[in-house]
Amino acid sequence: MTDILIAGAGPVGLTLALALHRRGIGVRVLEKREGLSSASRASTFHPPTLDALDALGVLAPLLPGGVRVNRILWRRVDSGASATVDLAIVSRETRFPHRWHREQHYLTPALLAALPPGTVRFGAGVEAMEQTDAGVTLRCADGSAHRGRYAIGCDGASGALRALAGIGVEASDYAHRVLRLLTPLDLRAHVPDLDGLGYLHDAAGSCSLLRMPEVWRLIFRIPPEMPDEAAMEEDHARARIARFLPGLRDMPVAGRDVYGVKRAMAVAYRAGRVLLAGDAAHLTNTRGGMNMNAGVHDAMTLAATLGAVLRGASDALLDAWAAARLHVVREALLPRTDARVAASPGDEVARMAALTPEQARAWAREACMLDIARIGAPG
Ligand SMILES: Cc1cc2nc3c(=O)[nH]c(=O)nc-3n(C[C@H](O)[C@H](O)[C@H](O)COP(=O)(O)OP(=O)(O)OC[C@H]3O[C@@H](n4cnc5c(N)ncnc54)[C@H](O)[C@@H]3O)c2cc1C
Repeated sequence: MTDILIAGAGPVGLTLALALHRRGIGVRVLEKREGLSSASRASTFHPPTLDALDALGVLAPLLPGGVRVNRILWRRVDSGASATVDLAIVSRETRFPHRWHREQHYLTPALLAALPPGTVRFGAGVEAMEQTDAGVTLRCADGSAHRGRYAIGCDGASGALRALAGIGVEASDYAHRVLRLLTPLDLRAHVPDLDGLGYLHDAAGSCSLLRMPEVWRLIFRIPPEMPDEAAMEEDHARARIARFLPGLRDMPVAGRDVYGVKRAMAVAYRAGRVLLAGDAAHLTNTRGGMNMNAGVHDAMTLAATLGAVLRGASDALLDAWAAARLHVVREALLPRTDARVAASPGDEVARMAALTPEQARAWAREACMLDIARIGAPG
């Protein structure tokens, strides 16, 4: 019997596996795909996530070619009013007081390489689960069966293990979708005070600018009534650019896509010997770039809790962990990333410009997830 079985070799399952392995705990990861995913998804690593990855010894492979973001900008394109927050304001609490922009598919190979060979079994989608007082058995599509003391569902939004454990989920789609444009043009040359993340506003809305290693991402909200095909059209994209970046209407566009945004929350993080982490437990709007980061924090706090329980602490610690992480999702993660808040920004630029240094520090702690990352870890 393995100590811990993990369903899913995404960033959360692999972080959990490595954090357990570093504690000397036996772990096996079962992954449905034949290899790691290379899809373009998360791009933002927040300070406590960088602290965690550094502690696991996998930060170095993420750094070459990534983008360090020290400062966040808000700017009114009509009046030119602006505000900035320098993330150095949180440097007392983290070794990395900045955001790091790098695609998540650079993290997963680094995690995999740090695990002992054979830890991850690919082509092994979990299809069935049985649990007793002593352990859990997972049966996979390739015919294999695996027994562990606990099983953790890190199998993403589809949540196969969550469903097998009978844990319900509350989910809803946001009405709007997002148009994402990529440009190789360095927007810092065109937007005063822009570092690696900016929010441009006019009286009726906003767009986000996010610097990635080779391109900038421009993120626009598209209204519910507009079909994806219309949002993708050249004229529509150019009009959006012109509204927020006058003079750059004809900028080179190297890629574009439209995606929907959802919010979802498992009603519990635990059912017997099955626990959840990452997208299997929570799904948010991409605003603030928090969902994968929160999954990594689930993994780090769960590894510490499982370590204590396997060393003889009460199993009730896992209930406390599950309740604490659910509270984080309900009270912080979902409200902070709520697309409806962003839909009515009011004069966000004036609000940010009016913050006192102490208020700016409190804002930055929340935006960087420093206030919630370690909640649930045993004391
Ligand atoms: C466009 C976009 C932008 C985003 N930007 C950000 C961002 O900037 N910052 C941020 O923090 N988050 C962001 N996110 C969210 C982030 O991508 C996810 O939160 C993250 O991938 C979750 O990791 P995970 O390991 O929980 O799940 P996943 O990455 O979905 O991995 C789950 C794994 O489980 C496997 N699996 C599925 N079913 C089974 C099964 N039955 N048995 C075994 N394995 C199975 C899958 O194949 C997969 O490999 C973004 C998402 C999108 C779509």
